[in-house]
Amino acid sequence: AKRDPGTSYRFYDRQLHISAGYQLRLEADLRNALRGRELEVYYQPRIDLATEEVRGVECLLRWNHPQRGLVGPDEFIPVAERSGLIVPIGYWVIEQACQRLKESAELGFPGLVFAVNLSFRQFHDRKMTETIFRIIFNANVDTSLLELELTESAMMHDPEYAQRCLRELNQLGISFALDDFGTGFSSLSNLQHLPISLVKIDKSFVEELGQSADAEHIIRAIISLSHSLQMSVVAEGVESEGQLEFLRQQHCDEVQGYYYARPMPWNELVQFLNSRSQA
Ligand code: C2E
Ligand code: CA
Ligand code: CA
Ligand code: CA
Repeated sequence: AKRDPGTSYRFYDRQLHISAGYQLRLEADLRNALRGRELEVYYQPRIDLATEEVRGVECLLRWNHPQRGLVGPDEFIPVAERSGLIVPIGYWVIEQACQRLKESAELGFPGLVFAVNLSFRQFHDRKMTETIFRIIFNANVDTSLLELELTESAMMHDPEYAQRCLRELNQLGISFALDDFGTGFSSLSNLQHLPISLVKIDKSFVEELGQSADAEHIIRAIISLSHSLQMSVVAEGVESEGQLEFLRQQHCDEVQGYYYARPMPWNELVQFLNSRSQA
């Protein structure tokens, strides 16, 4: 329920009991963070189950707050979303991803996919397609290695708009992943006319593997439906051998989770990639 743009902030308020003053301070801090290089992108590998190779990475924001230390996105993205700051922050993440994408090819890892999250507000920014076009044009990257992750609610809020934007960006080579699948209310059939190549199973289902037969049924159904619609499947939040084994048996295409690697700074990712290519 936390991913739904309409309710996420209320959830946040309730959970942390934050005052209006605190919110304003956080917002001001975040504005400075964007200017002052306190934001950092971490990278979490995605492993291909058939080859055990790193297929790509998901770009995940972190905030190195001068007083509060490393702050996770669940704490500040709702504030960024509400204030609109998520729009410039989100474009900054895409720029970072493009730079790292080029760097990874120079380091001997061509073909690594870079996945970036697009929030509801950013997806509905009037200048979204135009700005993304400018970023990828300036960076001069292989756009087939750039993937944007969107939730069902971001896509289904205005289906015609979503269709137009996804098609425009898809024509430039960018691909799309459906994030947190299973947590919203729409079904894959609503989304079948959109150019989506990948479905990400929400970690709440993976977490329940072995404890709930329902989770198994749901995951099996998502994989089989996605495959029949020619979409690949990534399971998120894979932490154990048992979960991995189940997903492998179900022919899940890729996994992402602490079992293989946590999100990490760029330098650590480079070490991680090097150690695996030598193994
Ligand atoms: P998400 O897109 O669903 O990202 C996956 C989250 O699952 C990440 O949390 C990741 O660290 C976490 N995760 C991965 N593997 C495991 C695991 O094995 N176990 C557990 N318990 N967790 C795992 P993170 O980095 O805290 O990000 C939270 C959310 O913040 C993301 O959820 C995404 O919705 C949002 N976010 C992160 N970066 C960005 C960004 O650049 N832009 C936007 N708009 N949203 C972002
Ligand atoms: Ca994501
Ligand atoms: Ca996700
Ligand atoms: Ca999630």
